[in-house]
Amino acid sequence: MKESHDAREAARWAERARAAGLSIGLVPTMGALHQGHFSLIERARRECDRVAATIFVNPTQFSPGEDLDRYPRSPQEDAESCRERQVDFLLHGQSGGDGGVYERDFQTWVNVAEISEPLCGRSRPGHFRGVATVVAILFGLFKPHRAYFGQKDFQQARLVQKLAADLRSGVEVRILPTVRDADGLAMSSRNRFLDGPSRELALAIPRALEEAEAAFRGGEERASVLEQKVRSRLEAARGLEVEYVSALDASSLREPADDRVSSTPDGLVVAVAVRAGKVRLIDNIWLRRSSG
Ligand code: AMP
Repeated sequence: MKESHDAREAARWAERARAAGLSIGLVPTMGALHQGHFSLIERARRECDRVAATIFVNPTQFSPGEDLDRYPRSPQEDAESCRERQVDFLLHGQSGGDGGVYERDFQTWVNVAEISEPLCGRSRPGHFRGVATVVAILFGLFKPHRAYFGQKDFQQARLVQKLAADLRSGVEVRILPTVRDADGLAMSSRNRFLDGPSRELALAIPRALEEAEAAFRGGEERASVLEQKVRSRLEAARGLEVEYVSALDASSLREPADDRVSSTPDGLVVAVAVRAGKVRLIDNIWLRRSSG
């Protein structure tokens, strides 16, 4: 595995792979890797000739007062995990300097308009502009054939699909299922900040989503009812602070027409954000008839 802190080197590596006719799979991350990230790497490994991963705690997607400085970092352990999974190129992104992900005097921003608005877009102004911009830069550097994102960050994954299509990047963006701990909690780099009681409380999230899924499987079609089920369950967990619960058309992230899951071409996503203690957690379920 080639490891580098220099974005220019990443571009050269990718150029050589492309010139040799090899397909490139890209897995962008912020590090502190866990099984959720590994599932993306492993899929890329199966589908592509060359796999690149990036570890970059992208400052532009954090607002002042968010946890940029406290975000967990474990670059050496991460590199070891990538090596074990046969990653070919690992970029440890730097925000400044000659080999930085951002050019000096950087001035160009990417804004995916509508998809950035609901859910986390409301509570984290500017967040998705930072995400879209860094992903566009990484796509420009690596020119991957495929890029791998987790359903865990559903709005982010949809936004990346939209930007890949709108900018005619040619990148095929894959969304892979959320990987969970045995008790159902979605894996997240931030879970390590949960103390015992907060983690216990946080289990209301998967339980609430499972309940909505069971209702959907049982024939419930109304988005508002599914949303309300999740909200009630979360609000009953005293100590959890609910930021949002929202059931949206999974492709447009708009309110589903006539409140029916059946009117959504690609199903319904029920997405939640809550605070458990000091930790902000997001999760969702994607309800589709075809998924069985
Ligand atoms: P992050 O390092 O949190 O920015 O995540 C990097 C990528 O890993 C994103 O595409 C995430 O959606 C994905 N990811 C994070 N957690 C999970 C999880 N539990 N299951 C699947 N994918 C995940």
